[in-house]
Amino acid sequence: MRTDPPRAAVIGAGPSGFYTAEQLLAAGFEVDLIDALPTPYGLVRAGVAPDHAKIKSVTRMYARIAARPGLRFFGGVEFGRDITRDELLDRFHAVVYAVGAADDNRLGIPGEDRPGSHPATEFVAWYNGHPDFADHGFGLSARRAVVIGHGNVALDVARMLVSDPAELARTDIADHALRALVRSAVREVVVLGRRGPAQAAFTHPELRELGELSRADVLVDPAEAEPDAHSAAWLASGAAGPTARRNVETLREYARRAPAGKTHRVVLRFARSPVEILGGADGSVSGLRIMRNRIEAGADGRPRAVPTGEEEVIGCGLVLRSIGYRGRPLPGVPFDGHRGVIRNAGGRVLGADGAPSPGEYAVGWIKRGPSGVIGTNRKDAADTVARIAEDAAAGALNSPGRPDAGEVAAWLAGRVPGLVRWDGWEAIDRHEIGLGTPLGRPRVKLVRRSELVGVAHGEPGVQTG
Ligand code: NAP
Repeated sequence: MRTDPPRAAVIGAGPSGFYTAEQLLAAGFEVDLIDALPTPYGLVRAGVAPDHAKIKSVTRMYARIAARPGLRFFGGVEFGRDITRDELLDRFHAVVYAVGAADDNRLGIPGEDRPGSHPATEFVAWYNGHPDFADHGFGLSARRAVVIGHGNVALDVARMLVSDPAELARTDIADHALRALVRSAVREVVVLGRRGPAQAAFTHPELRELGELSRADVLVDPAEAEPDAHSAAWLASGAAGPTARRNVETLREYARRAPAGKTHRVVLRFARSPVEILGGADGSVSGLRIMRNRIEAGADGRPRAVPTGEEEVIGCGLVLRSIGYRGRPLPGVPFDGHRGVIRNAGGRVLGADGAPSPGEYAVGWIKRGPSGVIGTNRKDAADTVARIAEDAAAGALNSPGRPDAGEVAAWLAGRVPGLVRWDGWEAIDRHEIGLGTPLGRPRVKLVRRSELVGVAHGEPGVQTG
C-alpha cells in the first residue's frame, strides 16, 4: 500500500494556479507549481493595470501559500518546449492546467492586421512589463485611438492612454511604457461597443473610475446613452442585474456632464460595430469604418446587435482590439477549438472518446473561458480540486512511473538551465522593490528574461539613476 502523499503538478502560477495549489495542499497533496515565466502571479503581474495597486495586493496571500510545506515553485519552464504532457504524466498523480488564456479573439474584418492595429492584450502585456512584449511598439504618434470592445480590459487600456504620466510614474508600470506614454500624442480615445449601454461588459466601479481622471473628460452622446426600447423594458422589469442598472445611470450622468476642458478625452460610443480598419498610403491604420446597430432580442432572448446599414468613418491612427482573451491549445492536451478552452467536464479533462483522462484537470480561464474577476478563480479551483479529491478517493488518479520529488527537481533543472525557484523569485522581488523605493514606486519591473534569471541566481542586476 502506498503511504507517500499523492503528487500534483499545477501548470501556471497565476491566481487559478495558486488557489488550486492551496486547496490541493489542504487535500494532502504535494504540489509543484510550474510557470513559463521566471516570475509568478500570471495576470496579477502582467494583466492588472498598474494603477490598480490594491488589486495586486492579493499577491501577499499567494506568497503565504508558496511558503507552505509541500509546495515548490519552478519558474521559466515552458510546457511543450521544455517539458511534455507525457513526461508530466510519468511523474505526477494529477496534472492541473491553469495556463489562462494567452491569445485574443479576432474580429474577422478587413484591415485587422494593419500596422497600428493591435490586440489590447498585447498593449496590456507591454505596459505591464511582460518579457515577451518589452520590444513591442504602438502608434502613439496618433492624436486619436479607437478601442474596440466594452469590457474592463477596454477601460483599462483607455485609461492608460489618457492618464497623466506623472501619476503613472508612481506605479509599477514598465519603464519603456512610461517613456512612450510621456511622448504620446494621443489626446482622444474612442471606446466602441457593438451593443447598447445596458449590455456593456464593464463593471460599475471601473466605469465610475473613468469619470474621475485628472486630465481626461469622459464624453457620451445623450442619444447613445439611452437604452433602446427592448433594453429599457428589460431594465424596468427588474430582471436586469445591478451592474447594468448602475452602468446605465452613470452613462446618463456622463451624457449630462459638460466637458471640463481637460487636455484629453475618452468618448464612449454605443451600438456601433467595426466593419473595416482603413489604411493610409503607407498601409498603416488611418481610420475605422463602423456600422450603426439596432438592438433586438436574439433567439435566446439575449439582446443582440443587428446592423442597420448606416455607416460612418472615424479617423484614427491606433486601434486596440479589446474583444476578449482566448485560450491557446497546449501540445497534446485535448482542446475545444470552438470555445477556446481545454475540453473538460467540471475540470476533468476529456479524451477524444469523451471519457475523463485519468489524472488530468483544468482550472480557471483555460477551463471555463476568460470571465470573472480574480476571486472567481478561487471557487473555480475549489470545484476542480473537489473532482480531484473524488478521483483520489475512487483510486482513479493517474499512476505515474516515477513519482519522486527529488527526481522531478533534477529533471527540471536539467531541462532549464536558468530554472528559478521560489527563493530566486524572492531575490527578484527584493531587487525590484529596492529599485522602486527611492523613486516612490512600489517596484521597478525587470522586463528581460536574462535579467530576471540573473537576479534570481544572485547577479547584481540593473541599477537606476
Ligand atoms: P469581456 O468582459 O468579455 O468584454 C469583451 C467585450 O468585447 C464585450 O463588450 C463584447 O461585446 C465585445 N466583443 C466581443 N466580440 C466582439 C466583436 N466581434 N465586435 C465587437 N465587440 C465585440 O472581456 P475583457 O474586457 O477582455 O475582460 C476579460 C475578463 O477580465 C472579464 O471578466 C473582466 O471583467 C475581467 N477584468 C477585470 C478587471 C477589473 O476587475 N478591474 C480588469 C480587466 C479585466 P458583447 O457583449 O456584445 O459580446
